[in-house]
Amino acid sequence: MAEPPIEELQSFCASVVEKKILLKFSALECKSFLFLPLFSTHKNEIAVISPLNQEELDQVSKIIGKPLVLIKKAPKSTLIDLIDFLFAKFGIIKSEITPQTSSTSELNQICNTKEGNLLKQLIEYQVANHISDLIFVPQISGVEVIVKQPNGLVSRSTERIPLEIYEKMLNILKVFARLDFSSNLPWLEGAFRLKILGRDTAFRISIVSTLHGKSTTIRYLTKGRIYALKDLIWFESELDRILEFIKKPSKLKFIVGPMGSGKTTLLYSILTELAKNSFVISIEDPPEAELQNVAQIPVKRDFDYAQALRSVLRHNPDHIALGELRDSETLKTAMQASSIGHSIFATIHANDPISFETRLLSLGVPLSSLQANLEGLLFPKLLPRLCEDCKTVDLSASNVLDCQAYNAKGCEKCSFLGVSGKILITELYFWSGSFYLGGLSFKDQWQKLVKEGLVGINMVL
Ligand SMILES: [Zn+2]
Repeated sequence: MAEPPIEELQSFCASVVEKKILLKFSALECKSFLFLPLFSTHKNEIAVISPLNQEELDQVSKIIGKPLVLIKKAPKSTLIDLIDFLFAKFGIIKSEITPQTSSTSELNQICNTKEGNLLKQLIEYQVANHISDLIFVPQISGVEVIVKQPNGLVSRSTERIPLEIYEKMLNILKVFARLDFSSNLPWLEGAFRLKILGRDTAFRISIVSTLHGKSTTIRYLTKGRIYALKDLIWFESELDRILEFIKKPSKLKFIVGPMGSGKTTLLYSILTELAKNSFVISIEDPPEAELQNVAQIPVKRDFDYAQALRSVLRHNPDHIALGELRDSETLKTAMQASSIGHSIFATIHANDPISFETRLLSLGVPLSSLQANLEGLLFPKLLPRLCEDCKTVDLSASNVLDCQAYNAKGCEKCSFLGVSGKILITELYFWSGSFYLGGLSFKDQWQKLVKEGLVGINMVL
């Protein structure tokens, strides 16, 4: 019998699915065990679509501890598409990276063993020292542990973990992340939460086959806060303009700035704002934080930006966000998507509209070819905020500016830096054959902040 078209299956699933049943699982779990949960039957079984037969599903039921009943068969590739579709529809593709919660008792039980205890010590060390990645690399002589700091510094262990101990540690990690033990995939990804040093802490795990066994990376998710857009943008007049800009239903909108200018922070606030009333998908390498109601798709080695973008277009999202644009293929795919009416956000490394144009050229796309597809550029800038405890009026500067201007020498409260916290200002350029400033310039905003005593007169733009 011919396979029903994917659209037919999608609308069938969408019409029968119960969100609370779907939410009992993660997309990763569904893909690993090959089932898509739809609703609860009168016998309290979970009705699923799957390529497996009922007997195989009974095996899966035992592993996941929930009774599954087959109501429709679909080939594996169709099922994977259906899982992506349904999880995206409910804004929960991010469950791919949503950490699973392991119970504390489970952790305690596991830590009674030698390998469990070693793993616990290593993860505690990672958290206590804010180490972003713990990487285990199997060699013939044992497993090397590589430690990667958030600033990129790398150090290596002198001692090796015996392979048989490492194998058991890996199995514990698979239990934490609820990964499929029997999987023969060359890579596995998952996430988990643990109570470490009294705090609920999130981790991501990635396992890749190498010459001498499976290499594992445990990433400690030390994520910053996600700010509401209204709390992030300092000037209300700018906020209104930005809201109007981001809600435009199509075209390319770039968030532009050098490293450390607040591009990702601003992008995340924008996506969170848009997701309140629309369907937002982001494609990232990797997602730097979990966003509420945004379907976040991590880019993988065999699933790049351009491929991911092409596949999400089928889900017809209202807004699509790409992380940093680094190659011409992604930029060209983004242009095509915007030319057929999609709203695309991307961040790009440049300092001003002129260097933006140069950056595009270096990616093989002249600015002129964007033309009708470009909405504009949003530049964020972070200014250090003067410490309220030690700021003093700077008389000579005050005379020049004809208002009270401040500076700060530093005190114990601000670790003798004179500044505490940051203020985000923005410049918004619209495109209409050329760029024009849509609101206040950085300089206007800087002057206002200096006059209000929030930014030091020495803090030049
Ligand atoms: Zn101070």
